[in-house]
Amino acid sequence: MDALWQRVAGRVRNELGQVGFETWISPLNFVGIEGRTATIKAPNRFFRDWVNERYVEILRESLSAEVGMNVNIALVVEDHNGNGNGSHAAAAKRPPLPAPAPSAAGREGRTQLDPRYTFAEFVVGSSNQFAHAAAQAVANQPGEKYNPLFIYGGVGLGKTHLATAIGHHLLAKGDRPRKVLFLPSEIFMNDLISSLRRDRMGEFKERMRRVDALILDDVQFIAGRERTQEEFFHTFNSLHAERHQIVLTSDKAPRDIAGLEERLRNRFESGLIADIAPPDLETRVAIVQKKAALENLQLSSDVALYVAQNVSSNVRELEGCLTRLAAFASLNKCAITVDFARQALRDLIREQEVKLDIDLIQKRVSEFFHIRLADLKSKKRTQHIAFCRQVAMYLCRKLTDSSFPTIGDRFGRDHSTVIHAYNLISRRVSNDSAFRHSIEKIERDLKNIRPDAA
Ligand code: ADP
Ligand code: MG
Repeated sequence: MDALWQRVAGRVRNELGQVGFETWISPLNFVGIEGRTATIKAPNRFFRDWVNERYVEILRESLSAEVGMNVNIALVVEDHNGNGNGSHAAAAKRPPLPAPAPSAAGREGRTQLDPRYTFAEFVVGSSNQFAHAAAQAVANQPGEKYNPLFIYGGVGLGKTHLATAIGHHLLAKGDRPRKVLFLPSEIFMNDLISSLRRDRMGEFKERMRRVDALILDDVQFIAGRERTQEEFFHTFNSLHAERHQIVLTSDKAPRDIAGLEERLRNRFESGLIADIAPPDLETRVAIVQKKAALENLQLSSDVALYVAQNVSSNVRELEGCLTRLAAFASLNKCAITVDFARQALRDLIREQEVKLDIDLIQKRVSEFFHIRLADLKSKKRTQHIAFCRQVAMYLCRKLTDSSFPTIGDRFGRDHSTVIHAYNLISRRVSNDSAFRHSIEKIERDLKNIRPDAA
């Protein structure tokens, strides 16, 4: 088995290159092949998802080529409790990517709910508190109070997560078994189209309407599609009349969805509308810590803060950072410090822009050129110091809102000296590309200073 894995690894290395291979493939453990399924262990769930998304196809092809038949790959998470596959048996049995077509699942009246997206794994903060409360209310009293529930917000802010959590709750709790249908809107549309083509509209209607709850994810996709909207309108009415719960998610509020039929807009606005905003810093820190804990990833509060500070708009990106950290840490077998994180995430995060002021620029320029701050601000006229001072003046003018006289004051000079410096350096920046690169480097360094390090 080892030899087989060596050969597979060789093939994959050729495809991915050394770095990609070392980062993503080396840490995997080949367990064995049973029937046509090869089981491979990943050190943690982040890792598994990352590999599943990007490399499972290469792995599958390489392995199939080596064994001379088509094999599937089951990526499972390493069990750190040392009892084999036990606790991850479910993961092992779950088919690898590509996931089974959700439409097929829908056809059987079953549903595809991402097992990770539960209420328990959702972090509540001021940005999503209302949507979360609404989702819980609907999960506890489906069809009664808020029907439909319409959740909207930007990309990666947890709409699908919350909508799915409602589904899990409905399936797990309650006094009777329920049918929950979770459909990405494209699937609804594709199903509809293929049903129309095959003259199976009766079945389609039946499938959509015999559920206790219908969750339509990213409903904005049906806007502008006449037939889909018409059919959804009827589905909606029929479910609503039976007091079956409808949950909708969208990237915009109903009134802002271009091409949405008026009658649908009315329906969507007739229940409860809840928006999700980007999480604030505290919530982001909490999310990072929660996801890390779920992965058994040791993360100090410094590092959690660093990541949260530098990824501000999108929770999915926060997760991407953790994936990377988990991978690098398991590779290097070292503790994750802030410096380590900064290195590992270099290309993923643009460090938050710091508000630059004259003090900071003076400080950094003197550090950059290895001269004393006092000299930079002094009247010394040695050539090197004068030059550094001119650069600092130029950057102050360029990167802050300060006027020439204000800058002059702070260097103990007249405004005309600053103007002269600014013109001199500007000219050189446009005429001398090597010089321009150095200046740009200083600017980049300046902008990359973390607020707390300043
Ligand atoms: P959307 O559907 O709004 O684009 P998702 O629901 O797919 O976003 O969320 C993107 C990722 O971020 C998911 O992995 C989800 O688990 C995670 N996420 C978003 N918000 C939260 C939160 N408040 N707590 C925990 N995880 C979250
Ligand atoms: Mg979504």
